[in-house]
Amino acid sequence: MRPIQKSKKLADVCYDIRGPVLEKARQMEEDGHKIIKLNIGNLATFGFDAPDEIVQDMIRNMSNASGYTDSKGLFAPRKAIMQYTQEKKIAGVTIDDIYLGNGASELIVMSVNALLNTGDEVLVPSPDYPLWTAAVSLSGGTPVHYVCDEQAGWFPDIEDIKKKINSNTKAIVVINPNNPTGALYPVELLQQIVEVARQHQLIVFADEIYDKVLYDGATHTSLASLADDVLFITFNGLSKNYRACGYRAGWMIVSGEKRYAKDYIEGLNMLASMRLCANVPGQYAIQTALGGYQSINDLVGTGGRLLRQRDLAHKLLTEIPGVTCVKPKSALYMFPRLDPKMYPIKDDQDFAYQLLAEESVLIVQGTGFNCPTPDHFRVVFLPNSDDLTLAIGRIAHFLEGYRKR
Ligand code: PLP
Repeated sequence: MRPIQKSKKLADVCYDIRGPVLEKARQMEEDGHKIIKLNIGNLATFGFDAPDEIVQDMIRNMSNASGYTDSKGLFAPRKAIMQYTQEKKIAGVTIDDIYLGNGASELIVMSVNALLNTGDEVLVPSPDYPLWTAAVSLSGGTPVHYVCDEQAGWFPDIEDIKKKINSNTKAIVVINPNNPTGALYPVELLQQIVEVARQHQLIVFADEIYDKVLYDGATHTSLASLADDVLFITFNGLSKNYRACGYRAGWMIVSGEKRYAKDYIEGLNMLASMRLCANVPGQYAIQTALGGYQSINDLVGTGGRLLRQRDLAHKLLTEIPGVTCVKPKSALYMFPRLDPKMYPIKDDQDFAYQLLAEESVLIVQGTGFNCPTPDHFRVVFLPNSDDLTLAIGRIAHFLEGYRKR
């Protein structure tokens, strides 16, 4: 028989958050090892439960949820999202501009698929949430990474962005609050990004899925609130702000300069129709989530579990010799740097394997986030304080051994 090969479209597609190191962890678990997982922002598995009112609402609506809905989604949750756009000061959004999806992930893939032809370029941050790079590649486009500068608190380097724009550049991706760095961008920086998009007629893909996971009293500004003469596609959902990753309930909002985007919007509608509709029980949870008690504030505010764990993880990590880390202002992650003089890592996937094999701690290597150098890794600070202390203690122990090699 002829060997069955994967499509050539997948040649440049990579998603290492669930890559080979996770596979190794699975095998170790099957062999009876207990792994401490610092690899995925899956809140519910660490005891961060979804608000009870949205769970109850979903259960109550279950008997109405067995049919397809409109391709863009049910009316009531989209209406609730419309009201949310008003809160976020995103102007001119109608119900027709809102699409519900099976998580933001599906809509991210859809939005780039509807746009790109071979040779089209999209500016994507480095480091990034790797779905963006993967989705652009899968769509036949070319991801072009712009620098987010660690020395500048991981903020995007505007000059680098400008340098990388050419006649093939169609769009820019901005992940704010950021995964994997935890950076939260100030409004002045967002305005500069909008200005670049305006000048070069770029679509702005604004991934704002962590917009309520904010520490130290910080506030979030939606990029789409800053202009009406640029086309914005804003992504959000229930996965993080409402600890409901498994509901697969996400949305995207088309706003700003829509007049010249009729053809693109037709493409979006076509792709939305082709997958019929988003998971209906998840759609039902959206209205209650947005209109209900915002319990995320209790987790990120003074004394909140997420805030405490962020502080603990940051303290413990930066006490390790040769480890530095910009303290996250938002989201669920840290992206520490290992001083290359002390830790001359050549292959950071191999580094992650070794850490897993020797200490049963699972992290994701920095290159999995399209970081250009093998000197970073990402951890989530979701395990409880005891487990975090244990896990980071093991990382410290591993690194101590690494220094002596
Ligand atoms: N965007 C970012 C920045 C993320 O970190 C994630 C998930 O971790 C997603 C999008 C996907 O979210 P969803 O669960 O809504 O598909």
